[in-house]
Amino acid sequence: MIAEATPALEREFNPWLAAEARFNNAAEKLGLDDGMRKVLKTPTREITVAIPVMLDDGRLEVFTGYRVQHSIARGPAKGGIRYAPDVTLDEVRALASWMTWKCAVANIPYGGGKGGVICDPNVMSLGELERITRRYTAAIIDFIGPEIDVPAPDMNTNEQTMAWIMDTYSMHNRQTVTAVVTGKPIDLGGSQGRTEATGRGCMIAALEALKRFNLSPSDSSVVVQGFGNVGGMAAKLMSRTGFKINTVIEYDGAVHNNHGLDILKLMQHKKETGSIIDFAEAENVDREEAMFQPCDILIPAAKENVITSQNAHRIRAKILCEGANGPCTAPADEILAANNVFVIPDILANGGGVTVSYFEWVQDRQGFFWNEELVNARLEEIMVNGFHAVTGYGEKHKVDNRTAAYMVALDRVAFAIKLRGIYA
Ligand code: NAD
Repeated sequence: MIAEATPALEREFNPWLAAEARFNNAAEKLGLDDGMRKVLKTPTREITVAIPVMLDDGRLEVFTGYRVQHSIARGPAKGGIRYAPDVTLDEVRALASWMTWKCAVANIPYGGGKGGVICDPNVMSLGELERITRRYTAAIIDFIGPEIDVPAPDMNTNEQTMAWIMDTYSMHNRQTVTAVVTGKPIDLGGSQGRTEATGRGCMIAALEALKRFNLSPSDSSVVVQGFGNVGGMAAKLMSRTGFKINTVIEYDGAVHNNHGLDILKLMQHKKETGSIIDFAEAENVDREEAMFQPCDILIPAAKENVITSQNAHRIRAKILCEGANGPCTAPADEILAANNVFVIPDILANGGGVTVSYFEWVQDRQGFFWNEELVNARLEEIMVNGFHAVTGYGEKHKVDNRTAAYMVALDRVAFAIKLRGIYA
């Protein structure tokens, strides 16, 4: 899509600069003073650790791990841990601040954090992954805990990784502490509804947005980019609710059916063939063009920086519901706002995941577990409240939804800091 990364585009794609652009815009609109801006911007704690691990072939390797706690103003830091060869401290820092704003929009009692380990999980055995996870946990153990910082899965980590972290932490504490991480297996204190939570949250936000257009799900065409956890679940739940999922886009192709795709069958097809393409009940279409077709709702749920200054003018969706983190760049925001695209920003739209993580932490601490119906009902309440808080700010301050979401978040975190005062 992008021919070459010019310095301007590199800046546009830098996650730290993107977060800063949104932050500055909202802080300006809120009239926050310089001191408060500095406090809000500066990560509370950044930890870099060395992780020596004995590899299966007998070699000793030292990996680098990070944990950034951006804010603890409203509660413990909260955020995932990613394993990837190209993780940087800058990236982890940006994602940690993102979590602070996301938790504040959802109005759950957390700050924001993120972790990362520079490693390539694709070439590592399960044993190596377990050793790296346990040693990383040991290295940051004084800085995590149910009341301090609560990690969760992110890119290339999963419920098994969380089980190892929980066990390592528990062994050091001489007692089982399930609430130290979320995203655990159900049998170890995980929550019902967590797998579907982010996709479900996207659907709830989209349903609220539809009301503003006087549309019902059965009148609405949907394009989903990314058929993984978020996009796949959103597509499944939305088609069950009556939406017409006309197009699904993956990294290797896209499929389209004017009458709506049968999502369960498409999932089965992907499971059997490893791809969505050549699905019998759809036509293959150009994956580069599919995102730009007219539709009621577009859900980019694959990766960051897909809607940019170069292509935002081609978006013809009424509602753009950001399932992924950062699918639109800051310059793209301006183009979308000028074209009256109703954007449901990531820190609102995909907050369903961290919200059910919060429920998991609450249930672990209570030692009392809820059924899926209750989890979903409480998720809906939080998503709907978040949606109205953001759109309410947008209307009151005459700003687009992204700016409004950041304003809600900054305002809430700044208010907590003011109430607590500056400890000296
Ligand atoms: P995933 O790996 O399960 O799914 C991503 C899907 O997108 C995969 O099927 C992949 O093949 C596809 N994809 C990759 N590149 C693509 C491209 N260029 N075009 C089309 N499809 C492409 O990941 P996920 O957990 O669904 O996360 C997706 C996004 O949502 C990420 O930005 C993630 O940070 C964000 N997110 C996830 C959660 C969660 O609970 N999983 C919560 C909040 C935000």
